[in-house]
Amino acid sequence: MWLTAVYYDGRQARPHPVTLCVEGDKLLLQGRDIVRREELNGLKIPPPLGSTPRLILFADGGRCEVADRQGFAEMLQDAGNSAVAGMENSWWYALAALLLTLSLLAVVYLFGLPYAARVVADRVPVYLLERMDNQFFASLDQTLLMPSKLAEERRHTLQDGLRRLVLPPGEDRPAHIEFRGSPTLGANAFALPGGSVLVLDDLVNLASNDQEILAVLAHEMGHVHEKHALRQMLQASVVGLAMAWYIGDVSSLLAVAPTVLLETRYSRDFERRADAFAAELLRGNGIPVSRLADILEKLEAAHQTAAPKQLAESVEALDYLSSHPNTEERIKRLRGL
Ligand SMILES: [Zn+2]
Repeated sequence: MWLTAVYYDGRQARPHPVTLCVEGDKLLLQGRDIVRREELNGLKIPPPLGSTPRLILFADGGRCEVADRQGFAEMLQDAGNSAVAGMENSWWYALAALLLTLSLLAVVYLFGLPYAARVVADRVPVYLLERMDNQFFASLDQTLLMPSKLAEERRHTLQDGLRRLVLPPGEDRPAHIEFRGSPTLGANAFALPGGSVLVLDDLVNLASNDQEILAVLAHEMGHVHEKHALRQMLQASVVGLAMAWYIGDVSSLLAVAPTVLLETRYSRDFERRADAFAAELLRGNGIPVSRLADILEKLEAAHQTAAPKQLAESVEALDYLSSHPNTEERIKRLRGL
């Protein structure tokens, strides 16, 4: 539908008779020596005023007067319908942009964050690492952890056994072991971010022989070797800090940090690497790799029969299986080595 109108180019006062119509999201204007095709979005169309002609204002100062007010209104209505189609188009663009942003965030979370954590972990100074583990024990001793009830001689024997291990190239000393008791955590061992390994009495008591305990220690040394706990903690604290910033409360985050460490679920990949480290260490010392599978089986059985009601509610999720997932798969793999 074409309407007649009068066009002023904005530079001269001379009126040009033109016809105009809307095509899609564009206004088409034709006259003698004049052709304009303009985005409707880029035009200003003031609301109708009394019985004066309708105005179309161009960005460059050009101007159009349309005497047929009824026809112009109808033309705009038609254009409005196609503008909705245009908006639908831009809605898809917005959705695509959102999806793109989300997948970018996911990539950063899945790959960028672990990478950054690894880089940072390698640069954390030793004194800070030690302080981290001291802090850990300072906040959990007397609450979740209590002094070990193992005889001093027993602890020395295990520490000696660890010290006598021939370490793989690149390792200069065995992990620092801390013995503790904990009815809540049961038979467990944890590699801490600073590099110490926490060994709980129940684990020592569960083992049939010292080689099984050494096998668990070798596995935890694998986590220490690759700084898994520290990396995991760095990653979690970035996410945690972001969440705390969003929620606006950092204090609760700091208060739960040590327990979060114990709840840490390592990825399959971390477990596989720690197992591989342990297998190499054990083999290098003439200890059968199956010792690790043996103790894993015992741990799994022990934690499955442990009465959940004995566990404090806040730490109900804590057990060897939650920090060491896919135990069955690991046992199979270790038996195959
Ligand atoms: Zn592990």
